[in-house]
Amino acid sequence: MSRIVKKEKIVADSFALLEKRQNQLNLLLQQLIQIRSYSGEEKQIVKFIVNKMNEFGFDQAFIDGLGNAVGRIGAGPMKILFDAHIDTVKVTEDEKWEHPPFEGKIVHGKIYGRGAVDEKPAMAGFLMAGQILKSMMNSNELPFTLYVVGSVIEEDADGYPLFHLIQNENIKPDYVLLGEPTDLQVYRGQRGRMEIKITTTGKSAHGAHNQQGVNAVYKMTPIISAIEQLDKNLPIVEPLGKGSITVSQVVTRAPSLCSVPDFCEIHLDRRLTLGETRESALLQLQNLVEKLEVGASISIPVFEGKSWKGTEFQQEAYYPTWLLDENDILTRAGMKTALTVLDAAARLGSWAFSTNGVATAGHFGIPTIGFAPGKEELSHSSREELNLADLLTATKFYTLFPFVLSESIRS
Ligand SMILES: [Zn+2]
Repeated sequence: MSRIVKKEKIVADSFALLEKRQNQLNLLLQQLIQIRSYSGEEKQIVKFIVNKMNEFGFDQAFIDGLGNAVGRIGAGPMKILFDAHIDTVKVTEDEKWEHPPFEGKIVHGKIYGRGAVDEKPAMAGFLMAGQILKSMMNSNELPFTLYVVGSVIEEDADGYPLFHLIQNENIKPDYVLLGEPTDLQVYRGQRGRMEIKITTTGKSAHGAHNQQGVNAVYKMTPIISAIEQLDKNLPIVEPLGKGSITVSQVVTRAPSLCSVPDFCEIHLDRRLTLGETRESALLQLQNLVEKLEVGASISIPVFEGKSWKGTEFQQEAYYPTWLLDENDILTRAGMKTALTVLDAAARLGSWAFSTNGVATAGHFGIPTIGFAPGKEELSHSSREELNLADLLTATKFYTLFPFVLSESIRS
């Protein structure tokens, strides 16, 4: 029978150890920032992470079939998964960075660079939490199994890396913690999103005889106006707020630029609040199109991706809304852990953007929350910067949280 480790002992011993190793933690984040890891190009960082997991004594560390870095500590009955996607969006030529984006420069207690917020700090924290756990106790003393995942290609295919892990690698967590930036608050959901295409067709004709044609663009125009109006009238549903609909692309086709186009297609970005689903959003557009009495077809595109490992995959561009109950045992364990590490009550919140929770919570219904340093609004910008004191606080959270959750489940 394994000895159950007391939470108080974890707080006292591990926090002291972490403070001693703060420089190592900062350096780890710096190294992660220095390895450029655009979506689909994560080979080097994945290898770095798996090597670190082995160096830090994780019980298992491997690269899965998609290319995610996966580590495991402990073999207890409760399975917790910590996820940090380790891909980033690109740095564009026009972005103005105060410090070079791949240097991970540290100035006055802050670190700068691409991924300094979204979301390499969580990975650094997870690795250090694992190192501390392994240096303090034997795996058979742990009341949980902790999976640490450095997921890939999330920026292009939110949800898919964890969908793959659960569906194809047979890792089925009971609880999930996401490392997307929450500025040290406890987040429990996000608006969902989907992409939609609407197509109109007409009849091409020479521009000099345009009365003989049917212009597909003119059929689309009232649809675009109605969508602009619809966006203003979408309901606000707290705590996630309002959904949205945006025409993000217009494509037309004609035999030549001197002809009547017989094809027009618009691409829509649809954000979904509570109560809005794939079906309800489609029905809304079907009604809109029918009312206008223009023939148009509506469809959801399929995203086709390829990971750095060469694994090809497809997923329908629908990413469901999710929100965990504020009284769920996981939410409460998150708040309790935050109270210990912050020495103040955390705020419950939700992300404006999309996360891998669309797979864990949205698709599989696995309770999911998030906790990480960094401000969400700095993501994908040249202003990504992080307070290193917050990184330490988050790492304390990661070290303590599995014990708090295990204790909540037992009591
Ligand atoms: Zn992210």
